[in-house]
Amino acid sequence: MPATPFDWIDDEARRRADAGLVRRLRPREAEAEPLDLASNDYLGLTRHPEVTSAAADAARRWGGGATGSRLVTGSTALHAELERELAAFCGFEAALVLSSGYAANLAALTALTGRGALIASDAGNHASIVDGCRLSRAETAVVPHADPEAVRKTLRGHGGRKLAVTDSVFSVDGDAAPLAALAAVCRAEGAALLVDDAHGLGVLGEGGRGALDAAGLAGDADVVATLTLSKSLGSQGGAVLGPARVIDHLVNTARTFIFDTGLAPAAVGAALGGLRLLRREPERALRARTVATALYEGLTAAGLTAVRPDAAVVSVRAPSADAAVRWAADCRTAGTAVGCFRPPSVPDGISRLRLTARADLTDEQIARAVETVRRTAPQS
Ligand code: PMP
Repeated sequence: MPATPFDWIDDEARRRADAGLVRRLRPREAEAEPLDLASNDYLGLTRHPEVTSAAADAARRWGGGATGSRLVTGSTALHAELERELAAFCGFEAALVLSSGYAANLAALTALTGRGALIASDAGNHASIVDGCRLSRAETAVVPHADPEAVRKTLRGHGGRKLAVTDSVFSVDGDAAPLAALAAVCRAEGAALLVDDAHGLGVLGEGGRGALDAAGLAGDADVVATLTLSKSLGSQGGAVLGPARVIDHLVNTARTFIFDTGLAPAAVGAALGGLRLLRREPERALRARTVATALYEGLTAAGLTAVRPDAAVVSVRAPSADAAVRWAADCRTAGTAVGCFRPPSVPDGISRLRLTARADLTDEQIARAVETVRRTAPQS
């Protein structure tokens, strides 16, 4: 029998199964997990009645979809309102909303670099940054994790455009980037700094204004931020924040903005609802950090190895990929949903459980989650 064009897929699937690395979709049956420490709903806003009403009102008024790309029919007054409010809240001159945080990173990286440019990209950066670097056609140097001196050495001497890019809070271990030191290096080397604040917005900075606010870099003329609206704001979508001339440049050149349908009005409405709630209830940001610290302290007191969280992500070491999968499944069976990171999603090959702190978790729920993770831990 001649080989068919997709036979190689079966070979790959077998190799994945042998390595215990098969991924499966598990549709949620219930609207909410019993005890959810797996989602990115850091402030507990995604099901907040003000957020869901804002989404429904926006859909009723503007329609189920944006109807076209932003430059044709897909920009509504609601998109403009969200851009104004996001920029003002985070302390930047202007903002541009895109259909996801992934698209925002691709937009910023491709529009601000290009052939002949040099990018210094942290080894722990999110996949969307990795892909943005590839798509940009710039030369990309992957620099050691959280190492401003390595960034300096990389950027020094390059004559063309240069840019350093980092997550503000790394999605695997929950540690924060040394933003102030990176900004100083970029300033000295004449490079732009691009910061993905997906995990900082709503958690870090004054009242959740983000990691750039916390680092005193909000509105800096040489700094651009990307955001997702899908974590703290309880919605979906992404944004780029920066100087007005940078945002205008993206409107004119960023392909993931120009050729993509605008963000659905319901998502725009939900994000505005989430943002307004956060402005009114800034204590939610501090509570998310307090919950993260309590989880970390409970887990380490139970003898587990965890990374001290800088924001709302708490990472716990697992002895192997198999053990991590079983551990997460046992937690779920015991009523606590936790995330599980394993190769190839982890750059260093070390598998982890990933617990996300939610501002609306009670002390009793935190204690229950810690006890479940402890009780189900693999024996080493
Ligand atoms: N950057 C980081 C650091 C992320 O964790 C994520 C999402 N998991 C994204 C970007 C992509 O955002 P979105 O899900 O809105 O595409």
